Order: sequence, then C-alpha cells, then structure tokens
Amino acid sequence: MSRILDWSEDELSSYYLDTEIDLSWIDKSSRHQFRWKSLKGPWITSDRRISSSKKLIELFSNSMPTDVYVSTSSSSVPIPQSVDICGEINCSKNVTAFDFRCFTCRKRFCDAHKGTGIDCKSCENLP
Ligand SMILES: [Zn+2]
Ligand SMILES: [Zn+2]
Repeated sequence: MSRILDWSEDELSSYYLDTEIDLSWIDKSSRHQFRWKSLKGPWITSDRRISSSKKLIELFSNSMPTDVYVSTSSSSVPIPQSVDICGEINCSKNVTAFDFRCFTCRKRFCDAHKGTGIDCKSCENLP
C-alpha cells in the first residue's frame, strides 16, 4: 500500500548503517520500549532497553523495520515515527497517523485531498 514499503532488506540495512538514528528527542531513551514492524511482517518488541542509536541498529539488523514506535514507561501511547504519502496519485505530501484516513480504501490523505465524510473523494463516488 505504501510506497515506503518498497524497500528491500538490503537497502534498509545500508540505510540504517549509514544513518545515525537521532534519539536525542527522546528524553532518557533507555527508559523507553521500542516496537517496530519488520520488513518480513510481524511486529517486534524489544525486550532490551535501548541506550543509544547504535544499540537500536544492532537490534534492527536481524529484522529491518519499516515502522518504528517508541513507548515511554510513563505512557503507553505509541509515537508514530514514520510518515506515509497522501493516497492521491499525483500528490506526494507526507501524511501521518493523525491525518484523514479513508474508511473504504484505508489510505491516508493530506488536507487538500481528504474526503468530506468518512471516505476519500474517489471512494465517495463509487456506485
Ligand atoms: Zn478511499
Ligand atoms: Zn494530497
């Protein structure tokens, strides 16, 4: 569904090896639990405390993530870290979990392309 998911495992691992994951926005990252959706499908929850991005990448190396969530010990609400792209074919605006989601096709849309009801514009017009 998402164009972000077209990555191969090799591409993802070289991406994570080249990219220092910025954990500075997390206050005391070792107190948080990381959960991610691996390229192979299942959700993985780390049972280890992550103190640095190096540790995180080590964990990733067995199963490359496409989606990473962090939960804090004080709150179990996941923070969506990945962005998706608007479901409108010609639109490449980023959308997040907080943006409009069509009830029928389950795609997310940016403000300009969201539907007026629970469906997106193209699903609204389906017979
Ligand atoms: Zn739709
Ligand atoms: Zn759009």
